Amino acid sequence: MLHDDWFCWGNVGPAEYDRGMGNAATLQELTNQVSGFIDQRDWSQFHNPKDLALSLSLEAAEVLELMQWKQGDELQSHLTANSSRLGEELADVFFWVLVLSNQQGIDLAEAFQRKMVQNGEKYPVELAKGKSSKYTELR
Ligand SMILES: [Mg+2]
Repeated sequence: MLHDDWFCWGNVGPAEYDRGMGNAATLQELTNQVSGFIDQRDWSQFHNPKDLALSLSLEAAEVLELMQWKQGDELQSHLTANSSRLGEELADVFFWVLVLSNQQGIDLAEAFQRKMVQNGEKYPVELAKGKSSKYTELR
């Protein structure tokens, strides 16, 4: 059971989290949760955009670190055995994505959906299906 105070906000407290109700949190709710966490600690004074991007990148490197020197079946077995840790590192990446997008006034849901439209245009199903090529190589 997680009792850190950053789960005690809005309508999702530890009890709801334990019942899995936190899984339906919206992007806005998660952003508010992150903002509350930072405000309580007066950390926004340290959050210039460059250092937020650096933190995001460092957490992404921790995702990679989990996979360093592992290949094939061993890699998947390792990730399966460490799925909780993988989830934590992905959450760390997402934390900084939320902080940076919120600070810069970016509507992340809108940006994500716009990007998915662009991805669909760059990777049309009829050209990209079953291929791992970059869009510039698709014919
Ligand atoms: Mg981390």
